[in-house]
Amino acid sequence: MEKRVAVLPGDGIGPEVTEAAVKILEVIARRFNHKFHIEYGAIGGNAIDKHNNPLPDETIALCENSDAVLLGAVGGPKWDNNPSALRPEKGLLAIRKHFDLFANLRPVKAVPSLLHASPLKEEVAMEVDMLIVRELTGGLYFGEPSHRTEKSAVDTLVYTREEIERIVEKAFEVARLRRGKVASVDKANVLETSKLWREVVEEKKKAYPDIEVEHMLVDSTAMKLITNPAAFDVIVTENMFGDILSDEASVITGSLGVLPSASLRSDGFGLYEPVHGSAPEIAGRGLANPAAAILSVAMMLNYSFGMKTEASAIEEAVNTVFEDGFFTADLAASGQRALSTQEWTAKVIDEL
Ligand code: ATP
Ligand code: MG
Repeated sequence: MEKRVAVLPGDGIGPEVTEAAVKILEVIARRFNHKFHIEYGAIGGNAIDKHNNPLPDETIALCENSDAVLLGAVGGPKWDNNPSALRPEKGLLAIRKHFDLFANLRPVKAVPSLLHASPLKEEVAMEVDMLIVRELTGGLYFGEPSHRTEKSAVDTLVYTREEIERIVEKAFEVARLRRGKVASVDKANVLETSKLWREVVEEKKKAYPDIEVEHMLVDSTAMKLITNPAAFDVIVTENMFGDILSDEASVITGSLGVLPSASLRSDGFGLYEPVHGSAPEIAGRGLANPAAAILSVAMMLNYSFGMKTEASAIEEAVNTVFEDGFFTADLAASGQRALSTQEWTAKVIDEL
């Protein structure tokens, strides 16, 4: 297969981890006989420095001409005092909006050899293998009116039937690629939007008789993520609940450095990025863990290109390197020698 990939390294450790991920993509191309056309674009702080715009038109054009986008991370102290239009994070919000990336997918899977870093007991965290599907372009973050006065503040929670339908469908589709279980999370005992959400789920599930669906309230979901996280397969939820639950779930694996994510449009186009941020204090020193960026490439192969074998090959290689006891500084036990970003990437390449 031949695919175009736009790479937006961004700021901080973004360039280091995307460099590692691109190397993996090149190895996959050789081993499986694909051709990936890779082109680079600016986003975030470096784009502000160069183009006075966190998401320059050139970058949008580049992404429009691509089949998928790989992003590193944006932001850093250098731009913290910029006026709001010139904040690096604006680039990220703008690209999600521009490409209508409404479905945010965050897998959380326990890696047995990393469980020492989890805050949960090993036997609780061990079997965790879930995927959180978060609605990304609606809800409280975008509802109007939104304003404040001296005495009060207003945010508005709005969902249209159509917005709920497409995210619920996406969740059912990805559940088919997994264990076929969907937990739909809402607050239907209180919120009108959640009552509509439940209605839509009930309607949509008729087309997916093979999927097991459970409705759960967000508060009890928050508890169960700690007490019995292994019970979850796919969780689908609205924007803010998803924001909170995915951060809660992310700590289970013990490191931000191993968590990938995807933000998808309905036609398969997607943006793939590590869950972690730009970690400016360790940037440029070979300390960054590239696993999240590398696993983001695996998600790209899986969700945008339909290359399941290739995606699994990457996941297995990463797991093997961990099992063999090779870690970057964020995960190495005290006294153990940590590998640099480049050394660790080379281990994954050997494995592939
Ligand atoms: P953002 O606001 O961009 O989400 P954040 O403040 O949440 O950023 P991150 O940059 O995601 O913070 O990371 C928090 C800390 O975790 C970093 O400062 C760094 O020490 C560590 N960290 C994050 N990602 C990695 C990684 N890939 N490798 C090693 N350490 C990491
Ligand atoms: Mg953060």
